[in-house]
Amino acid sequence: MPGGHDQTLRPFLWRATRLYPDTEIVSREHDGLRRYTYGEYADRTAQLANALDDYGVEAGDRVATFCWNHARHFETYFGVPTIGAQLHTINPLLPDEHVRYIVDNAEDELVFVDPSLAGKLAAAAEDAAEFDGVDFVVMGDEPVAELDATPYEEFIGGHDADYDWPELDGDQPAGLCYTSGTTGRPKGVEYTQSMLWSHTMASLTPQGIPMTDADVVMPVVPMFHVNAWGMPFTATAAGAKHVYPGPSPEPADLASLIEEEGVTISAGVPTVWLGLREYIEAGNDVDLSALDTIIVGGSAAPPALIEWYDDRGVELLHAWGMTELSPIGTVSHLKHDLRDADYGTQVEKRAKQGLIAPGLEFRVIDEDGEEIPWDGEAFGELQVRGPWVTKEYFQRPDATAEEFEDGWLKTGDVVTVDEDGYLQIVDRTKDVIKSGGEWISSVELENAIMAHEDVSEATVIGVPHERWQERPVAFVVPAEAADRDALPDEIDAMLREEYPKWWLPDAVEFIDEVPKTATGKFSKKDLRERYADQSLVEGAVPEEDAPE
Ligand code: ADP
Repeated sequence: MPGGHDQTLRPFLWRATRLYPDTEIVSREHDGLRRYTYGEYADRTAQLANALDDYGVEAGDRVATFCWNHARHFETYFGVPTIGAQLHTINPLLPDEHVRYIVDNAEDELVFVDPSLAGKLAAAAEDAAEFDGVDFVVMGDEPVAELDATPYEEFIGGHDADYDWPELDGDQPAGLCYTSGTTGRPKGVEYTQSMLWSHTMASLTPQGIPMTDADVVMPVVPMFHVNAWGMPFTATAAGAKHVYPGPSPEPADLASLIEEEGVTISAGVPTVWLGLREYIEAGNDVDLSALDTIIVGGSAAPPALIEWYDDRGVELLHAWGMTELSPIGTVSHLKHDLRDADYGTQVEKRAKQGLIAPGLEFRVIDEDGEEIPWDGEAFGELQVRGPWVTKEYFQRPDATAEEFEDGWLKTGDVVTVDEDGYLQIVDRTKDVIKSGGEWISSVELENAIMAHEDVSEATVIGVPHERWQERPVAFVVPAEAADRDALPDEIDAMLREEYPKWWLPDAVEFIDEVPKTATGKFSKKDLRERYADQSLVEGAVPEEDAPE
């Protein structure tokens, strides 16, 4: 068959730039707001594509980014995959060790980095064999002191603003994102052209996260997190205006972008929307009248938050997803027959993780290997499959064998399904803590803590936290000779050397012994139940420790 018929990203770029050349892309940068149009976006993306060709990037090569949400990063979203290369978005909040592992595993040769993250990347790259032969481009028009990097404007400058975008196969890898969502080393998830295409098309349906050309879309969820939940692609497919909130946006920055740019749809983890609520409740007057919908996911949306935004005319649309799902899996729309239900029932439904997105299938398997009834009570592990669900991990047959079963992805989320088909997460089988939308490996922290000579056993669990959803708390069995007064500080100092501040446990509690399962494994469920309602981590985590 002649080319040009497959499910690829190219038609989205072509349509948006031809139909909406004057629609704006707005970007909050280090030095203020920058704005241009889809028309200019088309030119700059073509220049980037030509520059990548010139540099020697070929179909199938991986090109990495280490960036916040801004227009240049968005240029790589089409500029890289639409020439047939693969965009690898690296999470800059990861410990250096993980960054080195990821760059090596992905065989990245070229990394686009933000000026404000150049120091962090330089620290990870220093004396690291994993970075041998890797080149850097810094997102701006000036070089930076920390890293030997070509300024982006110089990299694309002088290149032709036309590009003959090739006809690609739907199976061509287009993206790559690593997840730390289970124990062990981060695992790569590859997105093919057709996965991104089908995820975009399903997102656009009324039961997805629909958008039109009248929308103004602001992804607060980082672009290094599963392509900002696919929003840059969906917004382009719709011909919507884009607003990128830049490096570490504070509630005041979000408020002013919502007001001034007329944002209609935004998306982010609950922490972001709790932050905006706090900001408004502190007496700051924010006009939310343009804002219709906030997509909230990554962690559960608290019902009180849904109600608070309802009172202000903003719909909090709760969604569940995973890196492995590109990422949208469920969205908590109200079914038509629930639209007449009382408000309490509606909020209860909307606070669940929601209804499976059209195009996907799921099943829930209990401990006996049976499918559970849809009664809202029975629970089991959620398994999913569909066109935008990955079928394997990148170069990790071991992890693939473990986390897939007969073509179904085992999510590690334990759920119930009610009579209406709403899924609700009640537990996780994976031993990880999710804090402010970012993963913390409890197993890694445990091993690091147990390396202390005065610790005989240690386990780390996530304890519920209002602002960050979960925070790590360490339970330590001290050795007999241990100095119990000094030990918590020593553990803290030791962890600080290896891990970012936001990974450090909020508390170290002494216990006599770690509860064990019948097979001798640490029983976190037991500890979690014991500490579920008891806040060991009172008070917010200091702002500078925040993951984003
Ligand atoms: P994302 O960047 O979309 O959060 P990850 O792969 O990092 O994707 O995390 C996926 C995991 O996060 C899920 O398996 C689940 O445990 C958790 N998660 C995602 N969305 C929700 C939600 N709405 N409620 C509760 N947990 C969620």
